[in-house]
Amino acid sequence: MLKPIIGILGGGQLGMMLCDAAKKIGLETHTFCPDDEFPSKSKSTYFTIGEYTDEKKVIKFSNEVDFITYEFENIPIKTIDFIKDKEKIRPGKLSLLLTQDRLVEKEFLEKLNIPIAPYKVIRNSNDISSAQSEFTNSIVKTRTLGYDGKGQFSLSKSDNPDEVFKKINNKSIVEKKIPFEFEVSVIIARDKKNNLSYFPIGRNIHENHILKYTYTPFDLSKTQTEELINYSKMIISELNHIGVLAVEFFVTKNKILVNEIAPRVHNSGHWTIDACNVSQFEQHMICVSGGKIKKPLLKYSAQMTNIIGDEIYEWYDKNNTYNVKIYLYNKNEVKKGRKMGHVTELFDKDRTFKD
Ligand code: ATP
Ligand code: MG
Repeated sequence: MLKPIIGILGGGQLGMMLCDAAKKIGLETHTFCPDDEFPSKSKSTYFTIGEYTDEKKVIKFSNEVDFITYEFENIPIKTIDFIKDKEKIRPGKLSLLLTQDRLVEKEFLEKLNIPIAPYKVIRNSNDISSAQSEFTNSIVKTRTLGYDGKGQFSLSKSDNPDEVFKKINNKSIVEKKIPFEFEVSVIIARDKKNNLSYFPIGRNIHENHILKYTYTPFDLSKTQTEELINYSKMIISELNHIGVLAVEFFVTKNKILVNEIAPRVHNSGHWTIDACNVSQFEQHMICVSGGKIKKPLLKYSAQMTNIIGDEIYEWYDKNNTYNVKIYLYNKNEVKKGRKMGHVTELFDKDRTFKD
């Protein structure tokens, strides 16, 4: 029997791990990527090197695969529109449309009555001064193309609004800085038949606005867990999303706020590869290829640590052990703040992480 081919738009580390997962469950992959050298190149069964705006290449690629997914949310909508058979695209266009622009995403969450951080759209320097008078501290964020804290900076009451406005290149919003107790993310999935399942919730620790650690399990009350899951279920169902989706949250003393949605597999779910019966990557591939979702079960407690920038040099000569699993992303250049790999440490399943 011929194996179904999953087309993947994007060839980064998430694509690399999607390719590995596909292989594990008997699927082939075809990656479409604009760069000559990309992390998933040696892992993908087939690949096409082309621009996302190259209509002919995108159409040819779409005709050669059974399903199409993406590993990052900044695929131009135009690319999706080139694809004639919309049924092939999983998750669908809506998940991209509502998450490519922070403002659109926030309006979507507000419509669902899901709590988020107070924010303002920046149209002029007055919007900046009104944020300064309303919020103790705030963060300016680009509406589009931001990731790993890029396109963000802190704003304090004493900053000069005109100077700040001059500094902003893209359309931006300003958000109240939330004094959260901790951050978590929910990795949830939905299959073609609308079955939902989610992974154990991981706690995220960021350094310099970049995810550094995720660990699970940790102390979370039943009410907090239910609230986190309910919001995540509302989001994935409303988007008619097929595949994995991640919701990042801020948890304060008495509130839970959504920070943002990633319509794809997520860095904070990498530990699932080694610590669960099904990884986020396999779950995504199962859903995209029309299979029945699995119920994730924890085999081990786990902590994932991102390897960022030149930290990578410490890891080249290290080997996996029974409880330490190293993933290097084969990126062609080491850059400050760039995610170069990650490592997952496994522990006895009864271990609960403390602060
Ligand atoms: P990523 O791609 O890593 O998810 P991003 O560039 O999309 O990052 P955000 O998720 O908005 O950016 O922010 C990154 C981190 O910065 C958050 O996880 C959090 O630690 C901190 N942060 C962002 N917004 C706020 C806020 N309003 N209040 C407090 N901390 C914040
Ligand atoms: Mg984020």
